[in-house]
Amino acid sequence: MEKNIFGLNKDELTAELSFLKLPAYRIGQILEWIYRKDAADFSVMSNLPKNLRVSLSERFCINRAEVLRELVSADKLTAKFLLKVAPDVAVETVLMRHDYGNSLCVSTQAGCAMGCAFCASAQNGLQRSLTTGEILAQLVFVQNFLQREGQKISTIVIMGMGEPLVNYDNVLKFIRLVHEPYALNLGYRNITLSTSGIVPNIYRLAEENLPVNLAISLHAPTDELRSRLMPVNKKYPLVELLAAGKLYGERTKRRVTYEYILIKGVNDSFDMARQLAKLMGGQLAAVNIIPVNHVEEKGFLPPSPQRVAEFQKYLESRGVTATIRREMGAEVNAACGQLRGRWQ
Ligand code: SAH
Repeated sequence: MEKNIFGLNKDELTAELSFLKLPAYRIGQILEWIYRKDAADFSVMSNLPKNLRVSLSERFCINRAEVLRELVSADKLTAKFLLKVAPDVAVETVLMRHDYGNSLCVSTQAGCAMGCAFCASAQNGLQRSLTTGEILAQLVFVQNFLQREGQKISTIVIMGMGEPLVNYDNVLKFIRLVHEPYALNLGYRNITLSTSGIVPNIYRLAEENLPVNLAISLHAPTDELRSRLMPVNKKYPLVELLAAGKLYGERTKRRVTYEYILIKGVNDSFDMARQLAKLMGGQLAAVNIIPVNHVEEKGFLPPSPQRVAEFQKYLESRGVTATIRREMGAEVNAACGQLRGRWQ
């Protein structure tokens, strides 16, 4: 079988094609065709000599994403795509049109093994981790989609299906590739990675010397509650997680975001807010409050908007920076992880 050219960086492609002794600009042209010019096939690469196009097609395939479903919110600001990235693998990718630019949420695994109680992605377990090419294919698909409207992607959030820090190498390669001028030319500061708290790999990421934003899914201020909601907490409890978050902030000089989904009657009391504020002490951190999306099978409900506002006010009164995630296209978000579930 031919090798997927999607996901290769300049050095890798150069090495793969070294036997052809191509001038460097040819490598640049090929990369531009696959990452920027929507080429589905080597035959359309009109600035390459015909024999080169033939040798490329003998060695490589271009595994792009294929759209299976598309949901657009009523306000048109959110679009969710179910993308087929391999014959038996489909993942969700979400485009959010903010006033400051277009943000893309990519998946790093098909399904998820973390087993968080409130999350639809976890329901059928992990199918497999995505390759760098399969993560990138989501982005190139949406980028091409936006290009037709004269728009582009300005930020990436690695917050889709899966736990990015258990697919560490492929995700890091993706982040570096996206930064390359021949791909998206995106600053590392425009990328946010969200983790459920794989502590050793937070330390590893801190040592990569990339100013990528880190978001940590906290969701509970006590080990007892967090272990019930997020089994990963049994392995990496709060003290260890917060120490890793603190070090990440210090190393990268980036403010770490702690995500806190608010679930009615579970973690939305003032006592919880007080304990959360205490945990945030001494960190360059902010809390992002997210009213939980209702997942049918789970029965978790968001508190009233008034309660959400009170929770935020309480944190602020304790000196903790706290924002409420602006709800975008609730009707689309409510299907977070569920589109794929149904497809399966
Ligand atoms: N595994 C990573 C990234 C994917 S989940 C992580 O855990 O951070 C992205 C975010 O969506 C996480 O903060 C996760 O806790 C949150 N999430 C999952 N299910 C949700 C739901 N039903 N409502 C609101 N947020 C949810």
